[in-house]
Amino acid sequence: MNQYQQVCASLKAAPKIWLVTGVAGFIGSNLLETLLKLNQTVVGLDNFATGHQYNLDEVQGLVSAEQWQNFSFYEGDIRSFEDCQKACAGVDYVLHQAALGSVPRSIADPITTNGVNISGFLNMLTAARDAGVSSFTYAASSSTYGDHPALPKVEENIGNPLSPYAVTKYVNELYADVFARSYGFKAIGLRYFNVFGRRQDPNGAYAAVIPKWTAAMIAGDDVFINGDGETSRDFCFIDNTVQANILAAAADENAKNQVYNVAVGGRTTLNDLYRAIQAALADNGVNYGKAAVYRDFRAGDVRHSQASIAKIQQNLGYDAEFKIAEGIQRAMPWYVAHKHLG
Ligand code: NAD
Repeated sequence: MNQYQQVCASLKAAPKIWLVTGVAGFIGSNLLETLLKLNQTVVGLDNFATGHQYNLDEVQGLVSAEQWQNFSFYEGDIRSFEDCQKACAGVDYVLHQAALGSVPRSIADPITTNGVNISGFLNMLTAARDAGVSSFTYAASSSTYGDHPALPKVEENIGNPLSPYAVTKYVNELYADVFARSYGFKAIGLRYFNVFGRRQDPNGAYAAVIPKWTAAMIAGDDVFINGDGETSRDFCFIDNTVQANILAAAADENAKNQVYNVAVGGRTTLNDLYRAIQAALADNGVNYGKAAVYRDFRAGDVRHSQASIAKIQQNLGYDAEFKIAEGIQRAMPWYVAHKHLG
């Protein structure tokens, strides 16, 4: 048994009470699904800013009636300290995912991104500390590497942030570290690198590249590549991200007050990604023959991103089980089946 299987077995034997913020979103709803399938009790907090009731409904359909009874949903806003206090009451493990994602959204409206991602984060951290939870894991971001040129990205070496969003995620790390020093409350930050998979929203101006392109190909619309297509990313399938969260929640004290990269350790260009999605859709009966449309580079985007995953492998026993090709294969049937959302 690997570390993740061992942690899952212990959780099944002695279930915990979890709080997942952002539970109606992409990553949050996937955490919910896995935790309920492990017979855990889950409290969810969300204000539906970018999440959807239909994500929760879908999870309900994927778990047993008994498991679904272990879920209680609290509609609230992390910008309200009172909402955070209510959600944290009696909880063992917090997985804090609620935030406004997207670099372009933060450039268009830095004030709202700051309010949710920084004030909301501080509310959650404080409420969780006051409630005496045993662990606090939060969604950090690879955007914190900013303009640092080194590849692969190693946790200790970061550059200047390139967007308001990146500032907010870095401030989360600073607050988490200060809470460890000031109050002995030790959190774990997971720097996600381009997560993708089922239930990632294909809609809206701020959709991520994989769901956006997939929906466009299914609909037969043009697919736009920002820049020359040689921009690269370390795309990480959702199941790896779920694993990292569960390992982090159960981590030893000496693995806490740390940030960890969550990725695969690979690098895929947008041109290669385009071809991979096209091929995987063809396997699912969608034949898209159009060529990509190239346009300007997007402000605030880093050129290349690739993680070192040595630290999370060593300290948390993480195993990047799903590489990009397998992740794409697994994600495409969901998008084909949910093409009404695109
Ligand atoms: P998502 O938009 O699908 O989920 C975010 C959820 O948070 C949504 O359900 C939204 O309604 C909720 N939310 C937003 N503001 C809120 C508020 N004020 N109060 C309560 N709930 C609120 O996005 P996601 O991709 O699932 O992202 C989850 C987390 O991971 C975010 O913190 C994001 O910054 C981080 N992250 C994601 C990626 C990625 O590739 N998806 C990469 C790096 C970091």
